[in-house]
Amino acid sequence: MGSILLKNATLGYGRNAVLAALDLEIPPGDFLIIGGPNGGGKSTLLKSVTGLLPLLAGTRRVDGVKFGYVPQQANADTPLPITALELVELGGSARLPVWRTFWRMERAFYLECLRECDAEHLARRSFSELSGGQRQRVLLARALAVKPNVLILDEPTAGVDHETQGIIARLLGRLNREERVTVVLVTHEPGVFHEIARRFVRVSEGCIHPFALCLEPAEPTFSRRS
Ligand code: ADP
Ligand code: MG
Repeated sequence: MGSILLKNATLGYGRNAVLAALDLEIPPGDFLIIGGPNGGGKSTLLKSVTGLLPLLAGTRRVDGVKFGYVPQQANADTPLPITALELVELGGSARLPVWRTFWRMERAFYLECLRECDAEHLARRSFSELSGGQRQRVLLARALAVKPNVLILDEPTAGVDHETQGIIARLLGRLNREERVTVVLVTHEPGVFHEIARRFVRVSEGCIHPFALCLEPAEPTFSRRS
């Protein structure tokens, strides 16, 4: 339960293959960081893993997975005439019951999702008016509203301050450790997750490569003569 497998997969759009002959297994409880250059295919990989983008060829097998997805934020300002809380409710709307009493309980749950992301105070604010970091936390709360066992996050720490990066990293670490939520995350700042991630891969030139995160200071390339 909760495992994901891509086998000999070709990913892309129409006739344009972005990644080919890809084998990737994501076991339950994994914490996988994906890096690599812009345009390398990281977002394409995440969309294919969730099933939003069908494979061009190969096999995708998911077993007992409930995805929570935080897409890459568009830089463009999209005016969304709804509050942060309404956005989170929309994320979990598949769970909205008919009866009013239960509905109130659901609302408490959505507020709890916002609280987990340190964003409860933003509940009544218009989503369009929020800063990039505040939006990122609300979008993460929306993903939590579906009670996922696999969280897929596309650059959740891009353009947010260090404090928000820390909030996101601590929350994901706790969900992975205590609730065994699988985390698959694209970032250009892998160091933010160095203590909690289990695996690092890099997507570039149509392939996926494992890499070890090296946080040791590099060897000096020169020595001072005395
Ligand atoms: P990354 O997330 O690593 O920056 P993407 O997965 O977004 O890269 O893009 C990989 C390649 O796929 C790029 O060449 C991009 O132009 C192309 N691409 C992305 N989205 C689409 C789309 N909706 N239709 C066609 N091509 C796309
Ligand atoms: Mg991307």
